[in-house]
Amino acid sequence: MKKILFIILTICLLTGCRQEPELVTEPADYVSTLVGTLSEHSFSTGNTYPAIALPWGMNFWTPVTGKMGDGWAYRYDAHHIRGFEQTHQPSPWINDYGQFAIMPVRDAARVDQNARASWFSHHSESARPYYYQVYLADHDINAEIAPTDRAASFLFTFPESETSGIVVDAYDEGSYIKVLPEENAIIGYTTKNCGGVPENFRNWFVVKFDKPVEGYTVYAGPSKALEGVAEFEGDHALAVITFKTERGEKVNAQTASSFISLDQAWINFKEVKGKCFAEVRDEAKARWNDVLGRIQVGGGTDDQYRTFYSCLYRSVLFPRKFYEINEKGKPVHYSPYNGQVCDGYLYTDTGFWDTFRCLFPLLNLVYPSVNAEIQQGLANIARENRFLPEWASPGHRGCMVGNNSASVVADAIMKGVTPKKDWQTLYDCIVYGTENVHPEVSSTGRLGHEYYNTLGYIPYNVGIHENVARTLEYAYDDWCILQIARKLGRPAEELAKWEARSNNWKNVFDPSHNLMRGRNLDGTFQEPFSPYKWGGAFTEGNAWHYTWSVFHDVDGLMEQMGGREEFVQMLDSVFVVPPVYDDSYYGYRIHEITEMQVANMGNYAHGNQPAQHMIYLYDWADEPWKTQKWVREVMNRLYKATPDGYCGDEDNGQTSAWYVFSALGFYPVCPASDEYAIGTPLFRKAVVHLENGCDLTINAANASGPDEALYPYISKTKVNCTAWTENFLKHKHLASGATIDFTMSAEPASK
Ligand code: CA
Repeated sequence: MKKILFIILTICLLTGCRQEPELVTEPADYVSTLVGTLSEHSFSTGNTYPAIALPWGMNFWTPVTGKMGDGWAYRYDAHHIRGFEQTHQPSPWINDYGQFAIMPVRDAARVDQNARASWFSHHSESARPYYYQVYLADHDINAEIAPTDRAASFLFTFPESETSGIVVDAYDEGSYIKVLPEENAIIGYTTKNCGGVPENFRNWFVVKFDKPVEGYTVYAGPSKALEGVAEFEGDHALAVITFKTERGEKVNAQTASSFISLDQAWINFKEVKGKCFAEVRDEAKARWNDVLGRIQVGGGTDDQYRTFYSCLYRSVLFPRKFYEINEKGKPVHYSPYNGQVCDGYLYTDTGFWDTFRCLFPLLNLVYPSVNAEIQQGLANIARENRFLPEWASPGHRGCMVGNNSASVVADAIMKGVTPKKDWQTLYDCIVYGTENVHPEVSSTGRLGHEYYNTLGYIPYNVGIHENVARTLEYAYDDWCILQIARKLGRPAEELAKWEARSNNWKNVFDPSHNLMRGRNLDGTFQEPFSPYKWGGAFTEGNAWHYTWSVFHDVDGLMEQMGGREEFVQMLDSVFVVPPVYDDSYYGYRIHEITEMQVANMGNYAHGNQPAQHMIYLYDWADEPWKTQKWVREVMNRLYKATPDGYCGDEDNGQTSAWYVFSALGFYPVCPASDEYAIGTPLFRKAVVHLENGCDLTINAANASGPDEALYPYISKTKVNCTAWTENFLKHKHLASGATIDFTMSAEPASK
């Protein structure tokens, strides 16, 4: 018997057969919310903040190290916390709206954001999605926060003090506050915003304490205490409630808010009403484990799990809910598009220029019921104003280029996510946007549509900046519109129009350089031309980056370049050329340029969105091992679960979702198509638990693992036990549940 066991063991060692990898079961505890927070204006390692929230929650909370209104609300290298802020900020560049702060203090006279600030250390801080804790050293107060969708629970552990207090700061630029001492509560509103809201915008809030209010002071600005007054409405309203505490005494503060009304804020308060702190925290943890656990991975290292789940966490925050549940249990929302309270869903805080690429495809594969609500929200927006948003926070914001709402809508319709009742409404609104530009927000609709729709491109010399980027994205967007039009059975001449326009990318392709290049009104190309010049004809990128933005016709691009070999040579060149740049369009080195340089990958710029699909294009050129090599290198080198963990702006889930898809082994290069390009699976096993009850299982027995060689190359693929020789997977296969078996190797399959 011993002999037999020995033989089996020997065979196992020789053949590399090993146990089935154990899958992660408590993913929420692998998440660090601090990833990407070691960022500044000139250099982004994510430009994130530690969002304490539920997935897609209406309100996030964050500790605040920056001053009121600073887009960099929390910086990892800061030493002081000034408060805990309800935030809706999607990006520091867009900044926040509807924010207000809560701060416990040992000395209730310390109300101002500088006076109340306290030293803290990361050694006495816990940062999970469902729970945040920090020790505020100067107050000797331990602060804990747990979130719900529209409310939150705080637990403050006080020292012995005659003058303990909790400050509620409704922030400046128009706010209101009222203390209700008999109810141990503070109510108010904040109007703080940076645009994208109608005149009547308010974020109504309520804060209720479980300790009787012994005294309070209302402030008209942080240094102007008002005597004998319980409320204030003006530029900057604050209030502090005061009480005596024993050492170790815990005070629970619960808060909720509403963009609709104070009454609705109290309805939203039901999310925490009657629940102790631990209950709220545990429910939040369960929710995170459910949402993150839809993708279970195994056979990797703890560091890889931390990176994967920290990325998945960032992939399920935005766009956030902007709707609320009224007293009848129905979804309603305050519309940032017309200032009225309207029925139905609404989500916001995302830039489609970023997130159309792979964040929305991730939702369509793993969380389609959420995107079904988002799409119904887009149809509501179509009813509330003339345009779909391109950058919403909460309403239209002027930022970036393109008309990529078409991609977001088309991918969801093509993948069976959007209710059919909304297809026509969405289509009509998209078509309107192709012939119009928003009167106040030029990045909504299509700037330059008059040129594009007649000439087939936006000229370089007619005063419309980033004209090649716009032309390329409009052409892809037209291909997306074509997909919807086919679904709707639109007339043949309409289909022909979209089909013709989807070829417009060819009009800015310069065969003499094999690159995209600005084109003048008379048809000549821009002079002088440098493929290293950022901006100008392009958006936050150069010709090396944008030439590949033909998501829907990679074969066509290859043909224009002269064939497969020329195409590969151009792709290879992106990584080979030095990281030189021309920043004359901006007049300074934008942070995205620096992020490209320091990555040491030539002119490949993974830190910004235009390049993020590029690595996968080798699949079209029959050199998939190059895709595998670069994808593995980017995953291993440019993503970490550390405060400097991203290689550029995270951007509302897009950069994170790239990692999530890539770790699974495939990527949606062309949203609205049914194709995923195969990359290189990171884990020995991954199981996607689909909403339809089916499982998508990805096995890569020798992909990687502790104490093992890392094998990036695919030598064999099987889909449902059948040999698969294509470099692409189909959505219909993945979405109905499948088993994909990859055999990995240390060397490329062919060279
Ligand atoms: Ca970006």
